[in-house]
Amino acid sequence: MAAKPESVVARDYELIIVGAGPVGLALALALGPSGLGLDCVVVAATEPQRPAAGAPGRAYALGAASRRMLGGLGVWPTLKPHAQAMERIIVTDGRVGGSQLSLLEFGEADAAHDPAQIVEEPALIASLLDTLTKPAVSPFCIGEVTEFTDLGAAGEIRFTDGQKMRAPLVVAADGAGSRLASLNAIAHVSWDYGQAGLVATIEHDLPHNGVAIERFYPSGPFAMLPLTGKRTSLVWTEAQTEATRLANLERSAFQIELERRFGEDRGRILSIGPRHAYPLKFKIARKFTAPRLALVGDAAHVVHPLAGQGLNLGFRDVAALAECVADAARLGLDVGDATTLTRYERWRRFDTVQSALGYDGLNRLFSNDHDGLRLVRDLGLGLVDRLPAVKRAFMAEAAGLTGETPRLLTGAAL
Ligand SMILES: Cc1cc2nc3c(=O)[nH]c(=O)nc-3n(C[C@H](O)[C@H](O)[C@H](O)COP(=O)(O)OP(=O)(O)OC[C@H]3O[C@@H](n4cnc5c(N)ncnc54)[C@H](O)[C@@H]3O)c2cc1C
Repeated sequence: MAAKPESVVARDYELIIVGAGPVGLALALALGPSGLGLDCVVVAATEPQRPAAGAPGRAYALGAASRRMLGGLGVWPTLKPHAQAMERIIVTDGRVGGSQLSLLEFGEADAAHDPAQIVEEPALIASLLDTLTKPAVSPFCIGEVTEFTDLGAAGEIRFTDGQKMRAPLVVAADGAGSRLASLNAIAHVSWDYGQAGLVATIEHDLPHNGVAIERFYPSGPFAMLPLTGKRTSLVWTEAQTEATRLANLERSAFQIELERRFGEDRGRILSIGPRHAYPLKFKIARKFTAPRLALVGDAAHVVHPLAGQGLNLGFRDVAALAECVADAARLGLDVGDATTLTRYERWRRFDTVQSALGYDGLNRLFSNDHDGLRLVRDLGLGLVDRLPAVKRAFMAEAAGLTGETPRLLTGAAL
């Protein structure tokens, strides 16, 4: 049995991570006692629960780089039985009820084939928690952060009950509405897409053979991600009001709407899991660091899910920050000083802005029914499909293996 987390333990640490989502948990594994060995605490708003097997949740397409890092952190062996390889990806341009023009296909025949793995959030969180939580020692502290102070040699966080904690480095892994970012007056560049991603798990009676399909409709992309067994995770992007209507539609009426897009390749729809509509926005922090603070994951950037890259970018932050901290620690340097933080910021911010704007551009190009743009995108993607070198570059980008790749993402030790 793991020890029960304290409400707040007011003492000093070498590293404080605020937020127990997938990004915060992965960073704790990389830098905490089972990784680099820092004395580390993860601050969670409520006690992290191990989700029950089969609990509903959205699915993530983890690129090869993310998977290698999870392997190095000891998470992958537990997660692997719950992962489905995405053997082929078919991108089509479609009109509801009309033709599905196939624009692009990635698969085994491509030289750089190293398929992304689809994992469901409950299984990912459970595997991260199982690997992180050792008997008798809880890495968690439960409390709500109300203040952050730069003390010069350390960052100090204060909780609602007045207790305080200090560390040379505090990491904000507290998601899209990051409290730590606002306490540090870090502004964001952001806009709403006016779209929402409707997510649900569908059971069907024919196998999907590891094929992922992304159909681009004028209202937004409709993605079908293969899960283990005869199941598919849906990410159905629609205008916000339409997504809310679909989420609340009576089940049989929803199934009729769904069948118009889902197609017949996977046979009959046997069941439809709970539906959730996530409002979509673009949001990038103007700075990824402040004195004694680093932002990682959705606390630093929220991107359109059409390329399935949000968490992959977050894991890239984890790998880059962990490397900056490890290199400093090994030289006996301060792990949270300006030199370490500047290196992290330079490594991640430009790369993130570039990727996020790329996904934003794709959404603008595809989420409309303008004939001219339709021609441009059909020609553009059709061309990519016929040029192996360009296609390989696309795949390396999606796998997270472009640019200066942090060691953890190559499968090497920290
Ligand atoms: C529809 C949709 C589909 C997506 N599909 C994909 C995909 O296929 N592939 C992919 O890579 N990404 C995908 N994403 C993006 C992905 O979901 C996010 O990038 C990822 O969840 C970010 O993880 P995180 O740990 O940074 O933040 P979160 O998952 O938001 O976790 C933040 C944690 O911090 C906690 N917290 C918040 N405030 C505080 C506080 N003050 N104190 C303590 N704790 C706090 C929260 O409770 C939470 O546990 C998708 C997103 C959407 C909306």
